[in-house]
Amino acid sequence: MTAEKAVDAFLGQIDAAVASYLESCVHCGECAEACHFYEVTRDPKYTPTHKLKPMVRAYKRHKAPFSGLRRALGIAPSEVTLEELQEWSPLVYDACTMCARCTLVCPMGIDIATSIRKMREGMVAAGVAPQGLVEASERALEKGSPLGVTLKALKKQIADQEAETGIPVELDKKGADYMVILSAMEVLGFPEVIGALSRIFKQAGVSWTIPSAGFEGTNVGVQLGSRDIARELLARVVNAAETLEVKYVISPECGHAYSALKWEGPNLMGRPYKFEVVHILELLEQLRAEGRLRTKGKDGRRLTYHDPCQLVRRGGLAAQPRSLLHQVADGFVEMDNAGLGNYCCGGGGGVSSNERAEELRFKAFAKKKEQVDKLGGVEAMVTSCANCRNVLEEAVDEYHMDLEILGLTELLAEYLDDEAA
Ligand code: SF4
Ligand code: SF4
Repeated sequence: MTAEKAVDAFLGQIDAAVASYLESCVHCGECAEACHFYEVTRDPKYTPTHKLKPMVRAYKRHKAPFSGLRRALGIAPSEVTLEELQEWSPLVYDACTMCARCTLVCPMGIDIATSIRKMREGMVAAGVAPQGLVEASERALEKGSPLGVTLKALKKQIADQEAETGIPVELDKKGADYMVILSAMEVLGFPEVIGALSRIFKQAGVSWTIPSAGFEGTNVGVQLGSRDIARELLARVVNAAETLEVKYVISPECGHAYSALKWEGPNLMGRPYKFEVVHILELLEQLRAEGRLRTKGKDGRRLTYHDPCQLVRRGGLAAQPRSLLHQVADGFVEMDNAGLGNYCCGGGGGVSSNERAEELRFKAFAKKKEQVDKLGGVEAMVTSCANCRNVLEEAVDEYHMDLEILGLTELLAEYLDDEAA
């Protein structure tokens, strides 16, 4: 019964675009060589196309041209079973960060990452999604945040930052130009980003607010593979922005939050937003270009930049962080494959919320480590996704690397020339 539901969900997800993807693979193997999970293990089960196999089978049996005839003749592929879906759950959730590196290299233009995202819908319907992600989505629905961050906890972090900076943060300011949302990881792990934004926006004269309802940017529904949950979480942000009548919503330093809000969001809501979505990197770069982000001094360390997959491969945000980094860092060096071809931290796409995946996640980090080691003598790695930052910090500890992980917004704020405000 549950496998049938999964098959129905797969079939429901297979629109013309996905069908053309499933039809056009020429089995060249390029995608395998792009996937960090396959590269570090050389295990064929981690090739991107293998991860999609049950979905391909369901399509070929039920939806592909002449599938009815093939079934009648007894030559259609066999039905997908529940046991098979259980076997595939770790491949689809633990061994894929939906980083889209495979998508980038496919000569047939097949968007494998999006197909995996769609396949996860079927896995949820079959009840084979990992417990960690299911629980995170339940917390998000009940408490407003996948890590259980409540409004009370957010207010406490804001109060601490107000005390630190001496700048008040106004919640629910109607008619503000910009509405800031935050990822749970930022609120819990890196609350200094709130103080950094306060100082930067004060200097630049930006009118902004944080909503007391709908402040969570992370959309665990997208990571889990549940359109219903994704839509409900997204609606909280959209309602907050439209109630407060802001012009822009600033997507925080979180890759998947950006993709969910910017790209999936209007489709999930079934209508355009009444506001624009900008990533914090885009706004900071705009302020810099307008002479409204004035800094003093530079970080002299040898440092590099980790491109969050969703920002660079889905959002094309490669130039902005580099331009900002050059403003405050003298020793910025690029890794091999930097920008579009950058390797994932290993924990995107819900992998870091999935305890079952931890060992494989650390293994996959070997590709990132290789990139860093090749540079030799790098003291810090900057990024602009709180989830990447947390995953990188854990991996650096695991590998005993002497490497500091920094958030770009905070690094900029560190060199802000407050006297120029
Ligand atoms: S790169 Fe594209 S065409 Fe080649 S095996 Fe992978 S999905 Fe198929
Ligand atoms: S999206 Fe990334 S992790 Fe997933 S199969 Fe493709 S390269 Fe591998």
